[in-house]
Amino acid sequence: MGFSTDAIHSGQIPDPTTGAVITPIYLTSTYAQYELGKSTGYEYARTHNLTRQALEKNIAALEKGKYGIAFASGLAATHALMSLVKGGDHIVISNNVYGGTYRLYELNMKNYGLDFSWVDSTDLNNIENAIQKNTKMIFVETPTNPMLNLTDLAGISKIAEKNNLISVCDNTFMSPYFQNPLEWGIDIVLHSTTKYLGGHSDVIGGMLVTRNEKYHERLRYIQNAAGGVPSPFDCWLVLRSTKTLAVRMKQHEENARAFADFLNKSGYAERVIYPGLKDHPQNKLAKKQMRGFGGMVSADFGTLKKAKKVLNNLKVFTLAESLGGVESLVCHPASMTHASVPKDERDKMGLTESLVRFSVGIEDIEDLINDVKQALK
Ligand SMILES: *Cc1c(COP(=O)(O)O)cnc(C)c1O
Repeated sequence: MGFSTDAIHSGQIPDPTTGAVITPIYLTSTYAQYELGKSTGYEYARTHNLTRQALEKNIAALEKGKYGIAFASGLAATHALMSLVKGGDHIVISNNVYGGTYRLYELNMKNYGLDFSWVDSTDLNNIENAIQKNTKMIFVETPTNPMLNLTDLAGISKIAEKNNLISVCDNTFMSPYFQNPLEWGIDIVLHSTTKYLGGHSDVIGGMLVTRNEKYHERLRYIQNAAGGVPSPFDCWLVLRSTKTLAVRMKQHEENARAFADFLNKSGYAERVIYPGLKDHPQNKLAKKQMRGFGGMVSADFGTLKKAKKVLNNLKVFTLAESLGGVESLVCHPASMTHASVPKDERDKMGLTESLVRFSVGIEDIEDLINDVKQALK
């Protein structure tokens, strides 16, 4: 089936009791058993919940995967990935991932004997050179937040296969509408469903998707054993949102393209970063592995003073962390989303104090462009 058909139907069957077309929110912590040792297959809601299962099947279908494993947040899913490795193991990871991923792995998981090499994964040689005897996983995010650097997914899966490593891709920025890492040979896809999949800035959630039986079994085990599961209501919200993912993503992209073009031509910013711009250093790779360029645009305004003027005077864009909702948001990565990344690390990747990140929503594009014009007046 096509993407939109899967988005609307996959994982969802009319409720057998009433025929309800929409998957109900199963609010129960436990399930009646027929007799001793004989249950419906549902025993306790940390382990089994039908609303959650519907969401897992739905997103697994959109990512061309076999299994979805849902978590209470993107970071809970990021944390669960560490159940695939153990103390003494080494992970090679993009140096420009989501700030919370850096905080969790480098500042916390290191205490458990795990070791991380943070490398610029835009160059595959850096990945290969970082591999050690004890390396078990390669973790990339593409495009990255907020520099919108790309990593060659086919190249990563080739390296992972050759060295017998687990490959993971955080696909939050593209959503399954624009990019399917599993199709390029990646083992596990990570999503913060808080972003485009949720799409309305009203829910926190995470998801892992894989085709691999062994990884699925382990991740399913840890989902229940550690218990970082999303509530049935949160699952229902995301399930409701994936139905409109295709139409939302089309509009996000149309607006982001126009917005990036406007910023580029206006001369307001010193540098505009958007994978769809011809001068993006990886525009060719973007066209190869993505079906579109997404809704995120970053711009360097040259000075903190000018960046502040933009951030403080926008009226349609809301100054806030997060991204991927229907409403436009703007943020200052250096002091907000990436504040926990040390300054020298930030400088190395070009994440300056004058960089502003726009999550371009699906409002009327004229209003978004006029908003920047009036902010800089
Ligand atoms: C937000 C985000 C996360 C973390 O997800 P939460 O749902 O906030 O825990 C991970 N990766 C990326 C790329 C994100 O944008």
